[in-house]
Amino acid sequence: MKNIAHNLNIIHSRISQACKKANRSSEDIRLLLATKTVGSDKINFALQQGESLIGENKVQELKQKCTAIKELNPEVHFIGHLQSNKVKEVIKWATCIESIDRISIADKLHQRLIFEKKEIDVYIQVNTSFEDSKFGVLPEKAIELVKSVSKYKNIHIKGLMTIGLLSSESTEIRKCFQLLKRLQQDIIELQIPNVEMNELSMGMSGDLEIAIEEGATIVRVGTAIFGERIYPDSYYWNETESLNK
Ligand SMILES: *Cc1c(COP(=O)(O)O)cnc(C)c1O
Repeated sequence: MKNIAHNLNIIHSRISQACKKANRSSEDIRLLLATKTVGSDKINFALQQGESLIGENKVQELKQKCTAIKELNPEVHFIGHLQSNKVKEVIKWATCIESIDRISIADKLHQRLIFEKKEIDVYIQVNTSFEDSKFGVLPEKAIELVKSVSKYKNIHIKGLMTIGLLSSESTEIRKCFQLLKRLQQDIIELQIPNVEMNELSMGMSGDLEIAIEEGATIVRVGTAIFGERIYPDSYYWNETESLNK
């Protein structure tokens, strides 16, 4: 637990350093705790340190943990690949889904929202690295998807999300984030009704500085706070990957 407090301090100073360099205010950046595989005791501890935003990738984990951490009442985002049979459950717990990447899932989501007389915020997830292993709409299809999703009146688009290229080449990672920023600008110019574009969720443990320099408003950090996970990220990022291979 001490480690978590220490790591949080480090992350916050990385964020403020990056903000200084980019001439931005650190108040404009929110830290989202990426809590996949992390137990609720550790999440509760991080929340007690003053954190207020978490993101889960799997609906099963979302449900279990939200029940265990509800006293601290964090804002909860869903950041994983959403399957249509999980829509009903996800809207019980999350107030924002950052990973809308296809019209079929938005349609399912909307049907359920209407049924329950609920509304939800979403970000459109864009595959800016063009890797097959990543979910997300392709950049050239993103505007079309935003327009289509905007027609669902109980779904409110608030921004875009991406996972940068996993690479040691910072220029290649930066291109992903620049692409997301450019898409944001293009969408703003279109002035689509029911679409707000204030949020850019990008940057993780290894690349949050680059993301902040390129305009991130939310950075999603797991490993650098909670330590290495035992499951490979492909388990969370690729539906076809199984743990028992
Ligand atoms: C796991 C995950 C993160 C955090 O990644 P780290 O490298 O552990 O900081 C961010 N975003 C998504 C969508 C994730 O699945």
